[in-house]
Amino acid sequence: MKTETLAVHAGRADLKTLGVHALPIDLSSTYPVYDLAEGTASLDALVAGDATAANPIYSRLYNPTVHRFEQALAALEQAEAAVAFGSGMAALTAVLLARKGAGDHVLACRPIYGTSDHLMSCGLLGLPVRWVQPAEVADAINPSTALVIIETPANPTLELVDIAAVVKAAGAIPVLVDSTFATPVLQNPITLGARYVLHSATKFLGGHGDVIAGVIACSEADAKALRQVRVGTGGLLHPLAAYLLHRGLPTLPLRVERAQANAEKLVQWLQQQSQVSAVYFPGLKNRALMQQQMRGPGCVLAFELADGYRAAATVMTAVKRITPAVSLGSVDSLIQHPAGLTHRVVDEHTRSKAGIHASLMRMSVGIEHVDDLIADLQQAFRSAKVAAVA
Ligand SMILES: *Cc1c(COP(=O)(O)O)cnc(C)c1O
Repeated sequence: MKTETLAVHAGRADLKTLGVHALPIDLSSTYPVYDLAEGTASLDALVAGDATAANPIYSRLYNPTVHRFEQALAALEQAEAAVAFGSGMAALTAVLLARKGAGDHVLACRPIYGTSDHLMSCGLLGLPVRWVQPAEVADAINPSTALVIIETPANPTLELVDIAAVVKAAGAIPVLVDSTFATPVLQNPITLGARYVLHSATKFLGGHGDVIAGVIACSEADAKALRQVRVGTGGLLHPLAAYLLHRGLPTLPLRVERAQANAEKLVQWLQQQSQVSAVYFPGLKNRALMQQQMRGPGCVLAFELADGYRAAATVMTAVKRITPAVSLGSVDSLIQHPAGLTHRVVDEHTRSKAGIHASLMRMSVGIEHVDDLIADLQQAFRSAKVAAVA
C-alpha cells in the first residue's frame, strides 16, 4: 500500500471485529483478571516486552489505543514495530537506556535538537557521548560503541546527514535517526539500514499543536527491549494523546504536501530579500543527497538576518499571522530564535560551531495561504528595518 493509503487505514485492523468505525479510546488503568493463570502468563509476557497478551493487566504494560497508533506508525515507517512514549525525549531516553548494556559510549553528530544534545552531554544517563562529524564515524567507531545518533534534516540548520553512509560506517553498531523533520511521508530511514527511527510525535505527526508524544520505529526484537524500559520507567503515552495522534495521521501526507509547497515558495521569496543574508533548506546546498534519501525537502526552513539579533528580536514581536513560538510541525506557522530558545541549553561555543548564530531564525511553515505568510514576514522585516535605523 502507498503512504497515503496507509496513513488512512493502518492500525485499524481490529475495528472490524469490534464492530466500530472510529478509533475507540480505552482509558482503563487496570483490567479485571478472572482467570488467574491467564493473568499471570499475560503479566510475564508484557513485562518481558511482548507487544500484546491475552489480558492487558495494567495500562503501564499495554493499552489498545496506544498499540493501534504504534501499529500505524510502524506501517508508515516500513518497520516491524513501533513503541510510543510520553514525549520525544522519553523515547530517546528509552533507547539510550536499552543500549546502555551494549557499550560504554554513544557517537552523535551535531547539530541536533537542543535537549537531545543536553541530555547526552550532561551525563544524566551515565552513557557518555563522543561528538563526531558524520565523516568521522568510521574512524571513531569501536566494539564498545553502544549506538550512533544522527538527526536529518537537523534542527535548526536543516543540515542533511547521509543516512546510508553513516549506516555503512557504523557496521554492526546500530544507528538511530531522528527523523522528526522529515516525517514518514518524506523519509524512511529503516529502508536505508537505520535500526531506530525517532519521531517527536509532538511535531508533524500530531500536527495540531495539542499533543506531546514520542515514538520509536524499529525491529520487533528492539521494540521488546524498549517496552521493557517503558514498563519499568513509565514513560507512557496517554491513550487520549494516542487517539489524537492516530486521528490526525490520515491527513499527514496532505498537511506535509501543502506546507512543503508553501515552504518552497517562502524560500524563493526569502532568497530575494536584502535583509536576509542566508537561507537554509534541505536540498539548497546538497540537492543530490536530499533526492537520494528524501521524497521532498519538508516544511521547516531557517534564515539569517543581516541585522542580527536585534532584527530577529523585532521579528518575534512584529509577526501577526505567524506565531512566535518554539515547536514545529503544526498546521499553523511558527517562527523562533534557536540561539535564544530551543538551543539555549547548548553552550555558546558549541552553538556557534554548529551554525546556530544570533542572527538565525527557524520557521515551521504551516498550511495557510503562502501569500499571507509572505505578507506577514514582509511587514515584520519592515519593522526590523525601522528598528535598525532608529
Ligand atoms: C521536539 C524535538 C525532540 C523532542 O521531542 P519532545 O516531544 O519535545 O520531547 C526531539 N528531536 C527533534 C528533532 C525535535 O524537534
